[in-house]
Amino acid sequence: MKLSSTIPLAYLLLCLPLSVAAEVRSDTVLITDLKKHYAFTKQLQKLSVTYTKQRETVFQSNKLDQPFTINSNYEKLFDLSKGQFYYHQVHHYPGNYIFNDIIVHQEGKSILYDVNGFTKGKQLQYLDYNQADFHQDLAEDIDIFSAHTFLSDADSKNTTIKRSDTWAELTKSNAEEEQLTYRFNLQPIQLVSVMQHQSKKKTEYTNPVQKMGLTYASKVRRFTKGELKSTVNITNIKEIPHIKQTMLAIPQGYGPFVDTKRKPLEWVKLANDLYLINHVAGNRHVLVKMDSKGLTLFGAPASSKVSEQVQLLINNNLPMKKIHSVYITHGHSDHMGGVGYFAEQGITVLADKYSIRALKAFPRFKKTATNWNYSTLKHKQTVNGVTFYLPKNSHSDGQSFAYFPMSEIIYQGDFLEIPFDNSLPTHMADVEKEFIEFLYSEKIAYKRIVGHHRNNNMTPEVVNAYYKAHHPN
Ligand SMILES: [Zn+2]
Repeated sequence: MKLSSTIPLAYLLLCLPLSVAAEVRSDTVLITDLKKHYAFTKQLQKLSVTYTKQRETVFQSNKLDQPFTINSNYEKLFDLSKGQFYYHQVHHYPGNYIFNDIIVHQEGKSILYDVNGFTKGKQLQYLDYNQADFHQDLAEDIDIFSAHTFLSDADSKNTTIKRSDTWAELTKSNAEEEQLTYRFNLQPIQLVSVMQHQSKKKTEYTNPVQKMGLTYASKVRRFTKGELKSTVNITNIKEIPHIKQTMLAIPQGYGPFVDTKRKPLEWVKLANDLYLINHVAGNRHVLVKMDSKGLTLFGAPASSKVSEQVQLLINNNLPMKKIHSVYITHGHSDHMGGVGYFAEQGITVLADKYSIRALKAFPRFKKTATNWNYSTLKHKQTVNGVTFYLPKNSHSDGQSFAYFPMSEIIYQGDFLEIPFDNSLPTHMADVEKEFIEFLYSEKIAYKRIVGHHRNNNMTPEVVNAYYKAHHPN
């Protein structure tokens, strides 16, 4: 027989030193008080939340030595009584690219559509993004939801408490086993900050706003290792009677649903000396050009793992040929992440001088990139039958595209983004205008533009129609 099971809990508490018992009791009271304070969030069944976010980026910036601030707008509505939500996000990137997506959720299904139609065109996508995901995301930016979620399973056993009369710090592990410390002011109760210990991330909640009998922080700042990474400004939180049916409806002209299943790499012959590889890490494309010395790869995958898969496919299809060069269009993180895999084998990196500087500054390559072989591309330079152009543009200080005169094919990344269904986006980025006008002014004859992202076959007809739709004169 176990002794403990026969001894009443009250007796055990009596045996504890008085101060410890008092502390246990007061910790329990504190957690109960905090839970009570945030219990109102449960009653928020139908809500609209709007906010902006500013995030600094170095390796998506248009200037190598100056971080770019990505401005984002969010509009999120939910109706728990009907199991519906609406999630609209808009992100502004260098060159005036605007990502503008809406997710609508009802009857257990989430559907995503692209408002400007620049990444997905008119295609619709079922999304594996449910109500729990939506509310978890919301809790990351709104203090009252964050506090409520954290406190929901807190008790004096799983939570360590440090406190004074005016503040309290509660430390507890989350489902991913990361230690979190929530710091609250107690007079009045208000979440001040959240510390994620393992990842060294800190979120600070300030500028409280009182509305509808609740108080929420209208400014949220995120730090990693003490460095400010992003700022959120809550512009409005309000109760709504319901989500309007027009907001939940898919606009006319959209469809069909796109198959988002990952496809294996595909090898396509474009000309005697030119091959296209499709489905690189989902929906990217690279080209392989043969010359007397071997092969050049145009466009690097975003990671070493995918670079390895690409090299294996090339070896299988052209076993007698070796890759001697790898070309990147510009020094943005998603266009250079997989270069190291090739460069470490002694393969020469072809890029403009700014992109080479970006490679050497990129954290992943900082230790190794100084030892790689480079060939610095100049404007209108021809290398092994391929001409490289470096037009001035607003997306990146250093950015080039490759022109294959024999097959009249252009390979580019982030100069032009017509979606793969060739529908015309409703917003044209500045850099796209600059690029198309450059093609016109240089009178470059092409049959096909292969984009690193998404569309591997943009024809002059579609490009001209796109330009005309936005610049009719
Ligand atoms: Zn880019």
